[in-house]
Amino acid sequence: SLLPERARVFVAGHRGLVGSAVSRRLAAQGYEVLTRTRAELDLRDAARTAAELSVLRPDAVVLAAAKVGGIMANSAQPVQFLEENLQIQLSVMAGAHAAGVGRLLFLGSSCIYPKHAAQPITEDALLTGPLEPTNEAYAVAKIAGIVQVQSYRRQYGASYISAMPTNLYGPGDNFDLETGHVLPALIRRFHEAAAEGREEVVLWGSGTPRREFLHVDDLAAACEVLLRSYDGDEPVNVGCGSDLTIRELAATVAEVTGFTGRIAWDTSRPDGTPRKLLDISRLAQLGWKPAIPLRDGIAATYAHWRGGLDG
Ligand code: GDP
Repeated sequence: SLLPERARVFVAGHRGLVGSAVSRRLAAQGYEVLTRTRAELDLRDAARTAAELSVLRPDAVVLAAAKVGGIMANSAQPVQFLEENLQIQLSVMAGAHAAGVGRLLFLGSSCIYPKHAAQPITEDALLTGPLEPTNEAYAVAKIAGIVQVQSYRRQYGASYISAMPTNLYGPGDNFDLETGHVLPALIRRFHEAAAEGREEVVLWGSGTPRREFLHVDDLAAACEVLLRSYDGDEPVNVGCGSDLTIRELAATVAEVTGFTGRIAWDTSRPDGTPRKLLDISRLAQLGWKPAIPLRDGIAATYAHWRGGLDG
């Protein structure tokens, strides 16, 4: 295995949706998970990050820290999505290399692929066409991260790798209506409408775009597989292998949350890319497959979020 048993793994971004799931998974598998809170270490600060990593000297780093958001947040704050992600990636990768860390997993996103890439999207579609404008700044930062990983491999022979997850959801997601992604936003909108006895919920766009959703615990399992067994130049897609329309997603979330009213569409809001379904054959060859059906995952995420509201 490329990740020895009980290896010490620094998870950057361990309080986020992805980082918390990866931390839970690695700890459950017997690895020692090292973390620093945002108050202890600002990952945008390259000097502090390098100093901290040289003290910690982990066997591996998982780079799950990022500024992320839904379609409106990405359109409203392209500067922060570009700069903060570039800063974090520069700090963590350069710091890890300086500290002699030989193994690193960088987490990207499926929005790095061209807007009109052939579906399902294979890894070699990267940099073959124009990006979706609503999240171009974020995508360019993540593409820079992939090239940074490849450069460390090429120039220094480092075992750094990249994974590109599809749209993720799960416990600890951002349920803010303006800045979050579609799935937590729908859970919240339908829950509140049902609780208040409202008869209509207004969603964004046309409802026709297709999206693929993966539970973050499935991603965490994939990350462990990649850390243990993958050492290639190309990024590896992580998805569930099937997609649905936002309209179909809405019907499922309405059912799970008990909303029985009408769904209206505010077409003044952007649709984003028409479709982004990942081809996951590369990861399947490594022996991973998703285990959490979408409906079950949504129900569990809804239960977890409601628990947080009551408590
Ligand atoms: P994207 O995958 O980068 O486009 O980001 P999102 O998860 O934010 O949006 C996915 C799709 O869901 C887009 O077509 C949105 O227009 C649509 N959508 C519908 N209702 C909502 C909502 O309440 N919040 C968000 N974020 N998206 C919504």
